Amino acid sequence: MSRLEGKNILITGASSGIGQAIAIRFAKEGANVAINYRSGAEQAEETRCMARKARVHVDEKDGGGGKEMVVQADVSDETQVKTMVARVIEEFGSLDVLVNNAGIQKPAASHEIETSDFDRVLAVNLRGPFLCSREAIRHFLDRGGPGVILNNSSVHEIIPKPKYLPYSVSKGGMENLTKSLALEYAANGIRVNSVGPGAVVTPINKAWIDNPKARGEVESHIPMSRPAAADEIASVFAFLASDDASYVTGQTIFACGGLTLYPEFRTAWSSGE
Ligand code: NAD
Repeated sequence: MSRLEGKNILITGASSGIGQAIAIRFAKEGANVAINYRSGAEQAEETRCMARKARVHVDEKDGGGGKEMVVQADVSDETQVKTMVARVIEEFGSLDVLVNNAGIQKPAASHEIETSDFDRVLAVNLRGPFLCSREAIRHFLDRGGPGVILNNSSVHEIIPKPKYLPYSVSKGGMENLTKSLALEYAANGIRVNSVGPGAVVTPINKAWIDNPKARGEVESHIPMSRPAAADEIASVFAFLASDDASYVTGQTIFACGGLTLYPEFRTAWSSGE
C-alpha cells in the first residue's frame, strides 16, 4: 500500500486516539508524517515509533521509506501554529496534506457552561483548524498548489448534542469551514473535506469505554451495534488524502455505523401501521 508515497502530511493532536491511528495509517501508505502534540512528548514519541514500525518498505540506508517527526504546538495559538507549519516545511521540504484532528469537549448543561470553557472548546476545535488551514493554504498558493486539507468533524456536525453545546457548535462551524474553503480554493487545486466519525474507541470516550453498562447504552443507539476502532476512521482519511479522491471536495464523509440514519426510524412508528 503506497497510495501516499512521498506526500508530506501534518496531523494535529496526533499523539493519541484517531490522530495517532491516522499517523500510523499514513506512514503505512508511504507518507512522511509530522505528528503534532500539545503536551506529553513521550506519547508523541511513542506514536512516531509506531508509525515507523508500520512502514512497509523500510530501508534504513536511504532514510527508510519515509520520515516521521514530532512537533509541539497548541493549535489555538497563532504564533505556535506558524512556527509548527514552518518547521514541517523546513524538515520535509513542503506540505501536501494538513489534517485538523485535535479536538476537545467539556460537558455541562448549557445554562451552566463557564464562558472560559465555551471559548476554550471553540479555540481548539474551530480557531485551531482555521489557523492551521490558513498557514497551509498560504504555502499551497506560494508554491502554486495543489494541496489537501482534512478536518476531523463528527456526527455532531449535523446532530445536536445537548450538554455538549460548545463541541456541537464547533463541529457545526467546521462544516461551514470545510465548504467555504473548498469553494474558495477549488480552482487552485486545493481540496478540503471532512470525516464525521460516530462513536470511536479513543481516550476522549474514557467515560464509557471500560464501563460495560455505559458502553452497552452507547452501543444500543448505533445501528451497527458497536463503536468504531480508530483505524476504521483513519482509513477514510487515507482515502480523502490520496489521489483516489481527486474529484472530491467540500464533503463530509460520515463514518458512523449508521448513526446519521435517524436510528429511531429502524422500526416504523410514524405511519400508524
Ligand atoms: P483524543 O482525546 O485521543 O484526541 C484529541 C487529541 O487532541 C489529543 O491528542 C490531545 O492532546 C490533542 N489536543 C487537544 N488540545 C490540543 C491543542 N490545543 N493543540 C494540539 N493538540 C491538542 O480523542 P479522539 O477521539 O482521537 O479525538 C480526535 C478528534 O476526533 C477530535 O476532533 C474529536 O472531536 C473527533 N471525534 C472523535 C470521536 C470519538 O468518538 N472518539 C467522534 C467524533 C469526532
